Formats: sequence, C-alpha cells, structure tokens
Amino acid sequence: MFKLIDVQCSSIDEEKASIGALIIREGGTVVFPTETVYGIGADAESDEACRKIYRIKGRQQDNPLIVHVSDIKQAGNYAYTSQVEKFHELSGLWPGPLTVVMPRNDRVSQVASAGLDTVGIRIPDCAFTRDFIRLSRKGVAAPSANMSGRPSATRAEHIMDELSGVDLIYRAEKSRIGIESTVILPQGTKCTILRPGAYTREDLLNIFDIVEYAGPADKVRSPGMKYRHYSPGKQLFRAEKEQLLAYLDIHHDVLPIVTAETAADIKGDRLILGSINDPYAISSSLYDSFRTLDSSKYERGIIECMPEKGFFTSIMNRIRKASVEL
Ligand code: AMP
Ligand code: MG
Repeated sequence: MFKLIDVQCSSIDEEKASIGALIIREGGTVVFPTETVYGIGADAESDEACRKIYRIKGRQQDNPLIVHVSDIKQAGNYAYTSQVEKFHELSGLWPGPLTVVMPRNDRVSQVASAGLDTVGIRIPDCAFTRDFIRLSRKGVAAPSANMSGRPSATRAEHIMDELSGVDLIYRAEKSRIGIESTVILPQGTKCTILRPGAYTREDLLNIFDIVEYAGPADKVRSPGMKYRHYSPGKQLFRAEKEQLLAYLDIHHDVLPIVTAETAADIKGDRLILGSINDPYAISSSLYDSFRTLDSSKYERGIIECMPEKGFFTSIMNRIRKASVEL
C-alpha cells in the first residue's frame, strides 16, 4: 500500500518533501506532480531503483527516463552541459516544460538512460517538487505516472487507480499544462524537436537558427517515439467541427469531446475540453477526457480537431496519436 500526502505545487513544505526525499535515497519510488503531467520517480543513479519504475509501469526497457533535477547546478551532475553551446540560453526556459537531451556522464543509471549515451534533463515548474528533488540530493529519473500505453496522469486519482507498487504519492491539484514536456536535441545552432509540448517551435526559434521536427529516422534517437502513447482504450475518431456535427446528426452512440464553442451546438452528452481561446484549458483536460470516455457507457468517441498553430500544434500531435481520422 502506498503513502498518500496532499501538497500544493506552488508551496514548499520541507517536512512533507523530506519524506519523499528519504524514500528516493533508500531506493523507493515516489509519484510527484509537475506542471506537465504526474511523474513516477526513483534515484537516477541507481539501476535497481530505476528498474522498479519499468516494472511498475510495464515500460519497454529501451525507452529512457527523463532525469528531473532541482536546478541548473544539479543538471551538471548528470550531463556535459558545457558541450551544449546553447545551454545557458536554454536555461532561461527552466523551470518549465522542456526536456533537453545532452551527452550524459556515468553517474546516470544505465537502466534510466536505456543504454543511450545521452540523457534527457528537465527542471519542473513546481516549487514543491523541486524542493523534494533538492532534499533527496539525487536526480530523480521519472517517466509519466501511468501504465505504459495509457494516457499520462494529470490527476493523482488516475494513478491511485492504475499503478501498484509505488511507495508514496504526492497528491496536488490537476496538472496545469496536462501534456508532456517538449523534448529537444540541441546540435550547435540547430535544434530538433523530438516531442512537441508547451514550448513551441516559435519559442525555440528565439534561441536556435534552425528548429526542425523529428522525422521517422529519429526514432533511434528517441526510442519512446516508436511506442503507442497517449490513447484511450476505446476507439476515438477525430474530425473538424462541421464534419463532427454532421456525424453526430446521424450517430448517437458516440461521445463527442469538443471545445466549449462547439459544445453549444450539441444537444446530447458531450465532454467539454475548454474554450478555443484558452489552449491551456484544452490541454489540461485532454487526458482526463480520454479516461472519462473509457469509463463511460459509450464504445466510441469523436474529438474535435484544433487549428495547427502555436501550442495547438502540440495538442494536435497528441490528438492525432490517440485517434483515427473520421
Ligand atoms: P515519458 O516521460 O513517459 O513521457 O517518456 C520520456 C520520453 O522522453 C520518451 O519518449 C523518451 O524517448 C524521451 N527521452 C528520454 N530520454 C531521452 C534521451 N536520452 N534521448 C532521446 N529521448 C529521450
Ligand atoms: Mg509517458
């Protein structure tokens, strides 16, 4: 049975944080909140502790874990930050939803880095969690806190139902962003986006001359790309607003997942993501809507497509992976 402790992302609480820190130092696993999604963490320097994460999640061994650190100085314990020319400019985006893939040193567990010679480093924008990591005096290797193949968890309740064998769960509010961090591979003045997230291509163009999205050939560089992620268990279609409304006129056995604006045109059951003018409302309720679809009486869902610009590009990346075109 796990320990459950209520915390707030924005408030430091050393007494509560030191309980998790001790568990990390003793080789256990701790679920913690971040601004993106909840993570399940273990000592990033211990093969044995990191192995527990793979076991609990049923995660493929070749899919590396992101190492979460409390500050830039701690990043230097695990990665050759000096070899990443743009590191100091990038550090302006931290704490924040950014994972930077860098050459790793040998303090990083081989299990956590899945045998790669790089490590993904992130400083989460959640003061409680940064303090818990600082107190553990270790980097905390952590993937999203969900069974492999399921949508990432954006509420502690998702995890309590789903993962067994965790030592401690820190329960905070719903994740503010709700989709996973932007993962980048910097190479001089060029940067490859291995996974889109809340930091967009436009944000990265303030730092790099060239910013490209990873193509199919990059699967080798980011093994996680080859696995199915983020999806509900039930069938999910995607469609533009007009097509979706036309489909609903004929089919009544499908649950629509839509913006607040489109919801106004639907009479029956529907899940509202948020206003089209508030992308974060939409991203933060996306995975929750997948889980609600799964536990609903409906066998199928249909989700509304968003405009492919700015942060919506990242939201659409997750929607496309989770659905099939109508
Ligand atoms: P998760 O935390 O479950 O969202 O998964 C972490 C993601 O980050 C996976 O898709 C990995 O492929 C990616 N990642 C982590 N470390 C590295 C690395 N060293 N090189 C490339 N991608 C990485
Ligand atoms: Mg994941």
